[in-house]
Amino acid sequence: MELSLQEILDWCQTEKKRFWEYMLYDDMAQRGISREESFAYMEKIFDTMEQTVKTYRQDRLSASGLVGAEGGKLEAYAKTGNMLCGSFMEEAMITALKMAESNACMRRIVAAPTAGSCGVIPAVLLPYYELKKVPKEEILKALFVTGGIGEVIAQRASISGAEGGCQAEIGSASAMAAGALVYLQGGSDEQICHAAALALKGLLGLVCDPVAGLVEIPCVKRNVLGCVNAISCADMAMAGIKSRIPPDEVIDAMQEVGSKMDSAFRETALGGLAATKTGQEIMHKLMETEEDATITP
Ligand code: SF4
Repeated sequence: MELSLQEILDWCQTEKKRFWEYMLYDDMAQRGISREESFAYMEKIFDTMEQTVKTYRQDRLSASGLVGAEGGKLEAYAKTGNMLCGSFMEEAMITALKMAESNACMRRIVAAPTAGSCGVIPAVLLPYYELKKVPKEEILKALFVTGGIGEVIAQRASISGAEGGCQAEIGSASAMAAGALVYLQGGSDEQICHAAALALKGLLGLVCDPVAGLVEIPCVKRNVLGCVNAISCADMAMAGIKSRIPPDEVIDAMQEVGSKMDSAFRETALGGLAATKTGQEIMHKLMETEEDATITP
């Protein structure tokens, strides 16, 4: 029987505990570790995210040359004061780009839940830690929240683009990030679940169509979409707005949409942006370059 968000909420009510504690106890039981060890692991994850962003360099491009440098570009634009959104959203978008570019550049990242969507959760947690000056322990608890949401999605649907399209990667990451933000903003466990549902609903049906099969186009910029969606859904949930479709049913709908999605839209690079004229040209150019490199004189 797959885990549900409702089951976690029921457990919280019976045990008089919070959503994040469900995942903490689950981790302790699954790995036979102490509370301190589980927290230490989460801290390592958060520190890794932080380190990757801090050591980002704008002059690094991916091996294909298709992505890189845009995190720095957006950061420079933010400094002009002309960005439309506020400082938190600005930082989130910049962080999302930096993390996702780091993945494309083969740097160390945390797959959260996957490498392709690795920018979304750090995009909300790092700026929150930096700008709101909350104790690090709160951020780690928020990471447990992301784990709980991710676990339910993985069990009931999928977190893999090859299985469920990009809704399963960026959509899941966005739902996890939205829930984490609600926790940090002091929302209830029920609001955490509604924020996750709202985020997932907004990205339902998103296809996986990486150009040339590389986790670069459109993946890097979709991380920005994921974090912006998460922030807006967290704000909606904090305002008391609920998903009219119960959160678990939203996850089940995602599973249904993913299972009915044509294989061209599930990481095969045969449809969507990958199949556009320019997408195909990029792929052929990269293939030619690869062939040239393998020809020995
Ligand atoms: S397009 Fe596919 S490979 Fe890229 S982030 Fe989305 S699911 Fe991952």
